[in-house]
Amino acid sequence: MPCCGVLCQYETNKLVRIQSVRLGSLKWSLNAAILLFICIMLLWNRKYQEFDLVVSSVTTKVKGVAQTHLPGVGDVVWDVVDYSGPLQSKNSFFVVTNVIVTKNQKQGKCPEVPLKGRMCHTDEDCEKGSWDQKSHVHDTPTDDVTVRTSGIKTGSCVRYDVLKKTCEVSAWCPVETKTNPPRPALLAAAENFTVLIKNNIRFPAFNYIQRNILPQMNDAYLRSCHRGNDSLCPIFRLGDVVREAGEKFSVMAIEGGVIGILINWDCNLDRLMHRCQPKYTFRRLDEKESNKTLYPGLNFRYAKYNTVNGVEERTLYKAFGIRFDVMVFGQAGKFSFIQLIIYIGSTLSYYALTTVMIDWLIGTSCYSAEVGQNYSEKKVESVQDKQKCILCVSYVDENNIRLVKKSQKKKRLQDSKPISVQPHKEDSGHLRAVLCLLQPAEPDAQPPLDHKPDPRPCRPAWCKCGRCTPSSLPQEELCCRWSDGACITSSPLFEQLVLRRSLLEAVLLYRDPLSPPADRHQPSALRHCAYSQYISWRIGVPPEDTHPAIPSCCVWRVREEYPSPDGQYSGFRPVRMASMQACANGEL
Ligand code: ZN
Ligand code: ZN
Repeated sequence: MPCCGVLCQYETNKLVRIQSVRLGSLKWSLNAAILLFICIMLLWNRKYQEFDLVVSSVTTKVKGVAQTHLPGVGDVVWDVVDYSGPLQSKNSFFVVTNVIVTKNQKQGKCPEVPLKGRMCHTDEDCEKGSWDQKSHVHDTPTDDVTVRTSGIKTGSCVRYDVLKKTCEVSAWCPVETKTNPPRPALLAAAENFTVLIKNNIRFPAFNYIQRNILPQMNDAYLRSCHRGNDSLCPIFRLGDVVREAGEKFSVMAIEGGVIGILINWDCNLDRLMHRCQPKYTFRRLDEKESNKTLYPGLNFRYAKYNTVNGVEERTLYKAFGIRFDVMVFGQAGKFSFIQLIIYIGSTLSYYALTTVMIDWLIGTSCYSAEVGQNYSEKKVESVQDKQKCILCVSYVDENNIRLVKKSQKKKRLQDSKPISVQPHKEDSGHLRAVLCLLQPAEPDAQPPLDHKPDPRPCRPAWCKCGRCTPSSLPQEELCCRWSDGACITSSPLFEQLVLRRSLLEAVLLYRDPLSPPADRHQPSALRHCAYSQYISWRIGVPPEDTHPAIPSCCVWRVREEYPSPDGQYSGFRPVRMASMQACANGEL
């Protein structure tokens, strides 16, 4: 293939298909559950729609008349002008529910109201020209945050009544004396007042306009409707509003407070499912419990001025009341193909959960451990780092084969710790050799007992079998045994499988059927074939990326049988090899 770099290539993932009814049905059940979830979310949250927030304007109109008896004033009829007070702001309206009236105040000098911390004994207690800056703290809690200053001190201490003396002030006299609002509230009848809320809304993105007074609501309907018979009625009785906010009007009327009227527009502008109606809810917005807060309720002062005989007089009102704040929020949705595509795209990743869950299930012991092992073997391909050289070692007194990392330091192979232990994998070459064994032994084969017991001069410390030869290379320092005992070369099978000339020649001919007999009788070819016979027998197929290592006693026994004419051997040189055959043929 011509090399044209990364531009001419496409990489894709390789998949593993597990044939399993259980896993297959689990996969489709999970996928179906995910699909169901996605569909429910799509319809429930209207994910196929584009949304826009509401823009609105509110106007209110309060109606009602109440007759009340004001102390010091007499019976008074209060209409909308009186009880609305001057406190008007955007999207809210105010209704006075309680009042303290101080009539006929004139500019002059009079004693201060004898409150806590305001008494005096001599003139020295009253600093001339000063005014009580902290009066709103010394005041009773009901006075709210308005700075309540009666006037400027004249510097003299005068008698307020028979018992008390207070500082004299220049002020509107007489000063307001009452501090606590009357109980019960003077205008508790405001409960029966009604308010008409007009709310016009607009969704700019869809150019859609709507109002809370629906087209079918005619004059007769508006006269008769109330919240009890129609939740869309735009006329509200104040008592009902306060009650739905979880409060009692007669209690709240005493000190005042703030109530929120929340109008929620949740509109669906799709033609088939068109729906755009307001929903009203009510909630108290200020602190409720007056004993826990320093300044509960809501109050303010205002005055009405008039002139009597050329002297200006005023009537001071301290008004307590309930402010109603109208808050409008909401959104409208309309079908949008782009939103639908985006939503579908965002949900595709949920299907990966199926894979994650099933992989996890296979990985844990919840599922069959055997299947899990099989699956991970098929799915995961482990590749060794090129730098690492893993040797494969087999001991005659152990069933498994050991994988040992080749030490860079001068550490003997016999003493190296295994990085893993694996079961022996049968090699077909081994089987082949066993078949050959079934043939009668040729006369030239040496009987095993002929072999001289121990020709080695001195036994090295690491040798357990007594037949190994000292070596200067640590990777050649390997014995056929892990613990002390007989050497594998003393086994009759060693003679039959590894050393037998007729077998080795047959194997060489099997590999290369047309090789000349001269080549087949070369000692080096026979020697290398003997090594590969040993590996097939003892190690089988070595695990991938590992190199089989042959114990010193076996190497020397083979060399003894098929010696090199010049006495030179290449020794053990592990390199990366494609197969065990190459290893056995070339490198030992
Ligand atoms: Zn040994
Ligand atoms: Zn040995």
